[in-house]
Amino acid sequence: MRSINHLFFGLKYVLTYRFLKEKTPLICGLVMHNKCNLNCLHCRIAERPAEFLTFEESRRIIDAFYSEGGRTIYFEGGEPFLWHDREYQLEDVIRYSHNKGFLATIIYTNGTYPLETSADTVFISLDGLKETNDLIRGKTFDRIMQNILASQHPSLYINFTINNYNKDGIIDFCNFINGVKQIKGIFFYFHSPYYGYDDLFINNEGKKEILTRLIESKNKYKILNSMAGLKSALRNDWNRPLNICRIYEGGERYLCCRFAGNEELCRNCGYLSYAEIDQVLKFRISAIRNAVRYFQA
Ligand code: SF4
Repeated sequence: MRSINHLFFGLKYVLTYRFLKEKTPLICGLVMHNKCNLNCLHCRIAERPAEFLTFEESRRIIDAFYSEGGRTIYFEGGEPFLWHDREYQLEDVIRYSHNKGFLATIIYTNGTYPLETSADTVFISLDGLKETNDLIRGKTFDRIMQNILASQHPSLYINFTINNYNKDGIIDFCNFINGVKQIKGIFFYFHSPYYGYDDLFINNEGKKEILTRLIESKNKYKILNSMAGLKSALRNDWNRPLNICRIYEGGERYLCCRFAGNEELCRNCGYLSYAEIDQVLKFRISAIRNAVRYFQA
């Protein structure tokens, strides 16, 4: 039933977007706060002021997203599993979103807390095998893998952000994940220069090489990016900023992401899940097939 609702909603959304030019929000991101228990090389989110939302604020924002037409909601941070307000935990916010009528509730986590939740999907950040991941994210690999192996959640995915430190270990990582039955897929992003062009950043030529390798390897491994999404990234031609994504952080609403408004940053953006959405809206078959498979999970 859930997948029929998704299919129906997705089809209706794409058709009204294409033919009636309605740009209601599709993806809503809710930043619960910006605190984190890690200190990863590439991330300075914890420096952005965004205190813990109250439960009432989170409900108010969820209600507003829903009234505007949003049916997919992401919970992010900081680390969202750290969130609490009085007796309320993240699970209460997830339950509220489901009861409200959201079709997909998704958590972006660093994976260092137990992965037990009623959210429909959990994306766990892991940036390589032990040595590489721990160089980028601190000593977390063992703890994250323990949590993954202990989890009964039916829809766990990895978020892998490619940078200059981990780019040569992608295929070894894919091989490793092929043997982890709890993980349904790996989604690949590129490091975006949110804070400037540091040594993690890969230039366009470097990205093309990696994308070519991913395209060649896609069918051997659990790579969630679609063929259309990868090819669009290779051409660097996906529309951005994407006007159907909204992010709420600390009282501000942003279009597309929290760093919106910088054209050069957008040109070098590595947030490839938006390339996927763009390809779905352009009726690319492999992107649609991928999205259907993903939402049927
Ligand atoms: S950097 Fe630009 S394109 Fe990328 S997510 Fe942010 S606003 Fe969107």
